[in-house]
Amino acid sequence: MKTKWQPLVNQFQFAIEQMLPAQCLLCHLTSNQTLICQYCHDFLTVPRSCCLHCGLALSKTQDYCGDCLKQKHQFTQLHAVANYQAPYPALIKKFKYTKQLIFGELLADLLLASIQSNILSTQLSMIDYLLPVPLHNNKLYQRGFNQAQLLSEKLSKNLNIPILSNTVTRTKETMAQEALSLSKRKKNLRQAFEISDIKKHRIQNQHIIIIDDVVTTGATVNSLSKTLLQAGAKQIDIWCICRTSLPK
Ligand SMILES: [Zn+2]
Ligand SMILES: [Zn+2]
Repeated sequence: MKTKWQPLVNQFQFAIEQMLPAQCLLCHLTSNQTLICQYCHDFLTVPRSCCLHCGLALSKTQDYCGDCLKQKHQFTQLHAVANYQAPYPALIKKFKYTKQLIFGELLADLLLASIQSNILSTQLSMIDYLLPVPLHNNKLYQRGFNQAQLLSEKLSKNLNIPILSNTVTRTKETMAQEALSLSKRKKNLRQAFEISDIKKHRIQNQHIIIIDDVVTTGATVNSLSKTLLQAGAKQIDIWCICRTSLPK
């Protein structure tokens, strides 16, 4: 499927071709024409014990976090590749803020591998759309690309699930969530996303996966899930690279 992102995707592929045959991006040992060596791959994809619902890191003895026992998230389940710990913050920063797209390719590979080994193909076949968390136009202009869109392109191509494009918009330019408390994050995100009435038929009764790079409190993905469910979606799940611990 060709999209307006195609030139960026081509740039991605060009960058990779330039790098292969390669050294591992992380430890610089020979890597058999993949972005990272097997050792680094195993290190980055250590299975994690987490809340079965929201993906928050937990000790092995707990199935659900305190948050999920108390309040209901709008989404059904969140799958994260890893906790937000080294080397992930550095990899994500290189991808998002210094536009080293090769790291985006690596993160997309890790997310794809994690999905393929954790989610049954029968479950995957029930999914109707992938939805990268939309950026506000100003942010998109500033950054030049939507990191979640690039991750979704790779997943869409390999899992054969279409991307839900031109349907949901981010209407409110929200403040950076990092600096805000949980209650302020929720307020900050109130009615941040919009689906126009003429587009609502596209999501009726659909099972949609929201794609994001990092989920912190879940306020963004919850707000987006709520908008989608209110507009008629059947089920929303979240796939992301990292799930952070809750802010203190
Ligand atoms: Zn390595
Ligand atoms: Zn939870």
